[in-house]
Amino acid sequence: MLDQWLDITLDGTPPVRSGVLAAYGYTLHAPGVVEIIPAKQAANARACVFSAAVHGNETAPVELIGELLCAIEAGVLRPGAPLLVMLGNIPALRAGVRYIDTNLNRLFHRGLATPGDEPDRARALMAQVDAFYARHAALPPLHYDLHTAIRQSRYPRFALAPFSNAPVCLAHWRRLAAAGMQAALCQHRHSWTFSHYSRHYHAAEAFTLELGQVAPFGHNDLDALAPMLALLKTLAGGGTPAEACTERMAFFRVVQEIRRESDDFHLCFADDTPNFTAFAPGTRIAHDGQGGDTRVSGEPLHVVFPNAQVEIGARAALLAARTMAPGAPGK
Ligand SMILES: [Zn+2]
Repeated sequence: MLDQWLDITLDGTPPVRSGVLAAYGYTLHAPGVVEIIPAKQAANARACVFSAAVHGNETAPVELIGELLCAIEAGVLRPGAPLLVMLGNIPALRAGVRYIDTNLNRLFHRGLATPGDEPDRARALMAQVDAFYARHAALPPLHYDLHTAIRQSRYPRFALAPFSNAPVCLAHWRRLAAAGMQAALCQHRHSWTFSHYSRHYHAAEAFTLELGQVAPFGHNDLDALAPMLALLKTLAGGGTPAEACTERMAFFRVVQEIRRESDDFHLCFADDTPNFTAFAPGTRIAHDGQGGDTRVSGEPLHVVFPNAQVEIGARAALLAARTMAPGAPGK
């Protein structure tokens, strides 16, 4: 069944179903939400949430999840940890678009009162995560929310750490380094993404993982993601993930967010500027008829997720500063 789950989900609403096999049981809790429970839980098991397609046009993560489920179905991978696999925005995934009405990945907040399909989906996904972590409360919670970026990047594979007062454990960075992540960006304030939800409300080991550039189904370079697939399989098996030196990765922290405040707004660099491109102090980055100019001050800053076409009031870019790798000598 697991190898057909993605197709079933895309074809229509599957019935709530469950099954028990020798190595594991599974339950379809809701459309696009399947839980796998190992027959025998490994000693190092974590309560693992893997989500994909929170943005519907980001297909590489869906293919990666498909490979993981096929390995379980084929008996090649024996589950050793409870696993909640979620497809975020199913209508957008069907239509091959980022979202239908609004960006789902800004809605994961318990106070969310907005009506609409995407807010309804956010509420359903939050409830599923809450119930899953409650069912497995004895295990450390983990959530990887898998994405691909709209634009090119100087570091095609990078991790976003949601804002938290508690620092990320060194071991968590070390396993992302071993999984082929090339950079990390630490958020400077709350942003109501899906990974932030698990970090903020459940103190989970939670990251948004950007796994290359957006491409249609069948056009993703899964070879580059083999180390990440290996990490997902190890976590699903309840094993101990490989670790590598954090200096393999470039670390950044967000220092400023540029918001669009008026119709008269533009970014002062080319539309195809890759993520993490550096700008020297003094460079004008953005102009807003209301907010004025934004210039780089103090130290060189790197632009991430620039998008001048956002709605008024929304984030048009992040500016980030390079930092030391955690655990590196001298830190
Ligand atoms: Zn995304």
